[in-house]
Amino acid sequence: MLRELNLGEAMTVTPMMAQYLEIKDAHKDALLFYRMGDFYEMFFEDAVAAAEALDIALTKRGKHSGQDIPMCGVPVHAAEGYFLTLIRKGFRVAVCEQLESPAEAKKRGYKAVVKRGVVRVVTPGTLTEDSLLSARQHNYLAAFAQVRDLSALAWLDMSTGAVQVMITDRARLSAEIARLAPAEIIVSDANYEELAYLEPEFGVAVTEQPRMSFDSAASENRLLSCYYVKSLEAFGQFSRAEISALGGLLSYVELTQKGQLPHLSRPRQETSDAFVHIDAATRRNLELTQSLTGGRAGSLLSVMDRTSTAAGARLLERRLSAPSQKPDVINARLSSVTYYYENQSLARDLQAHLKRIPDLDRAVSRLSLNRGGPRDLGSIRSSLEQGALLYQSLINLADPHPHKNLTVLTECTDLLDALDRTLIAEPPLLARDGGFVAPGVREDLDQARELRDEGRSIIAGLQKTYQEHTGIAALKVKHNNVLGYFVECTATHADKMMSPPLSETFIHRQTTANQVRFTTVQLSDLERRIQSAGADALRIELEEFSQLCALALESAAKLHDVSREIAQIDLAVSLALLAVEENWVKPKIDNSRHFEIIGGRHPVVEASLRNQSGRSFVANDCNLSPDDGTAKAWILTGPNMSGKSTFLRQNALIAILAQMGSYVPATFAHIGCVGQVFSRVGASDDLARGRSTFMVEMVETASILNQSDDKALVILDEIGRGTSTYDGLSIAWATLEHLHDVNRCRVLFATHYHELTQLSERMAGIENAMVTAKEYNGDVIFLHEVKRGAADRSYGVQVARLAGLPPPVIERARAILANLEQGAREGKAAPLAVLDDLPLFAAIPEDSPQVSPDQTALQNALDNLHPDEMSPRDALDALYRLKALSTEPGLS
Ligand code: ATP
Repeated sequence: MLRELNLGEAMTVTPMMAQYLEIKDAHKDALLFYRMGDFYEMFFEDAVAAAEALDIALTKRGKHSGQDIPMCGVPVHAAEGYFLTLIRKGFRVAVCEQLESPAEAKKRGYKAVVKRGVVRVVTPGTLTEDSLLSARQHNYLAAFAQVRDLSALAWLDMSTGAVQVMITDRARLSAEIARLAPAEIIVSDANYEELAYLEPEFGVAVTEQPRMSFDSAASENRLLSCYYVKSLEAFGQFSRAEISALGGLLSYVELTQKGQLPHLSRPRQETSDAFVHIDAATRRNLELTQSLTGGRAGSLLSVMDRTSTAAGARLLERRLSAPSQKPDVINARLSSVTYYYENQSLARDLQAHLKRIPDLDRAVSRLSLNRGGPRDLGSIRSSLEQGALLYQSLINLADPHPHKNLTVLTECTDLLDALDRTLIAEPPLLARDGGFVAPGVREDLDQARELRDEGRSIIAGLQKTYQEHTGIAALKVKHNNVLGYFVECTATHADKMMSPPLSETFIHRQTTANQVRFTTVQLSDLERRIQSAGADALRIELEEFSQLCALALESAAKLHDVSREIAQIDLAVSLALLAVEENWVKPKIDNSRHFEIIGGRHPVVEASLRNQSGRSFVANDCNLSPDDGTAKAWILTGPNMSGKSTFLRQNALIAILAQMGSYVPATFAHIGCVGQVFSRVGASDDLARGRSTFMVEMVETASILNQSDDKALVILDEIGRGTSTYDGLSIAWATLEHLHDVNRCRVLFATHYHELTQLSERMAGIENAMVTAKEYNGDVIFLHEVKRGAADRSYGVQVARLAGLPPPVIERARAILANLEQGAREGKAAPLAVLDDLPLFAAIPEDSPQVSPDQTALQNALDNLHPDEMSPRDALDALYRLKALSTEPGLS
């Protein structure tokens, strides 16, 4: 923090530094990028921090309170990349621009400092630049608000303008944050401490704002003025908590964008019963949009994304993150996919258009924030052009297309015409560079450009005209810095030039020893025009740019509709082609309690087997459909590594895929809509939150037992393994009983506690299934087939052998296992009693060969002998070496 200046010091501070300190004081929580010409400079602590974070040179400039002022800087043209690095490292950046030119400042006085002000604060949730964003993912800014006992979460994507809000109680907040994965969440200072945990847990920047920004009355006014409406009822019935969350969101956008709001769609309310509830742990565990290692690669999303547009990719991620619970919604989506599944060549034709569509939403948003350029207008044009082609391709087909709002694709024809008429084929990124308005659009622009580019030839043309007019062949039009352009001829023509009628045109300026020089009204006008032609051309282009921007922004809402329609077509086409290529099937979805999957596969494991080893995936059936209206659970046993976890997850993924409106990797699937999906794997550490392995497991199990209802699908993978055998078995047993009897949900339960399989005899609705393997020559061979019945063993020792445990350990484990099994057969009380019979330190059974390191050395030396290649002398030497090895102490 900078120390406050006292009066004495303030006198010694330069006016520019005083300006810097004042601006910095208003932006203490951000690094201040202070514009100086072509650079953004940072000073004091900001410079030290930025130099380290960006790995750039730290220098110094002048003194402050007798001390050097640390300084570093980055060129303006490269600033975007630096913003991103700083944002990723947890900084915020206040961008302070020059608000006037140095020449304008000088008019106010010789020593006047150029006016500067912060035009924007760059934060993780408010990025709009393509280079700073991932095109295929949303970048959400969220706000959480609590009004008395009701709380709400609002979120928007600044780069697309979509705004949403929902009532969210505290208990569900983590699940929603996991679903949306916002880049930043704004919370009131009243809630900050309780919500700070979101930052380490979900990698979301938690930004504290004064509670005033969430005041619901002020929030309502903010919303009314933002959307130019008299009452919010136009958008629906909002609770005070929702209004407060939306207001907090808007106030932060105003704060960071310095009053410049992006184009925002009207807020859409979400209700929590519309979507399948998937909590954070389940999402992680199922690797829906991110793999366990954190990246997109290896996730379900990464293997199924065949979308062609950025908006389509974002829609896919949204749908996959929030599958629907409503059969009618799901079936409508599925029928769009079916349409393209059955019209594959149409789908491929449309894909060719879709691939040419740029990111329309983000282009509109940048333009609305005054951060756009001609290329964004070009993107709007291409989107509208390709949109029109999509429309044409779909409109007159014998098999009517499934899209309800297709006509939006043709509703911006005026804008398309204007863009088409005005812009060149590939407009540049920045308006300030000019050169984007096509020739023939404006006569004054064409003239200005001609003058700018062809000034010399115009002057030459004028020279020729004057030569003819005066009859003086040696007349020249020349230029110097004192006179500018002038007409020159030798002194011999002076009289003629200075007498009527020529003197009416040629105005005498200068006579030198041999020459006379003149100007003309036409020449000075031309000169003025040549000099300002470049600036004129740019001014005219900028006029056109702002007119086009205004026209585009008038249609912003429609453009977002166009983008939404394109995304829907893209998604349906891509899911259909995915289903064709991967051999997926249309699921049957209804409100029953069915869960029947035939020939199900795990799409990610299947893809990775194919890529890595060319092995094929063994498809398996799963049936949790109740026979008599009761709940159904499967207890799955089988060897380690046989595919239990894969089977469990593939069934959850199939349900999620089906309910997001996709075909599924199976030959048949009938799913009665699932309301919640829970997936837990026993025993994974959460050291960051200071919980033991077992504690995590139990907290997660508790949340399932407390939350799941009869529409839930629960998959539990070895719950109870984090404690001693009997405790674990008892907990697993009781959990399964409770899920089946009380929660009455559909359950898949994988376990190595074979005792659990007895439950199937005691409770209707619980069935046993096993993943098969067979033993061959002491090794286990995995068949990966799921069958009815209970597995009799885990083959853990064989798997440990495959994993490379040292042979003595494997032998010892075999011996212990044999003893334990025998003990169990003979009905010995407890495993420990059996172990008593086994001398703990007689580690290696007698029949197992004992191999010492020296024996290995002797063996190695023998193996390395090649008698046929040895001379008699070498052979004798080798014999001595072997003798020496065999008499080493370890072998005697
Ligand atoms: P553990 O009990 O040790 O946790 P597991 O029984 O849960 O093991 P998985 O982790 O599901 O076993 O599967 C192990 C490996 O077996 C997978 O990574 C995959 O390569 C392969 N596999 C699983 N299921 C199949 C299948 N149906 N077809 C082909 N290969 C499979």
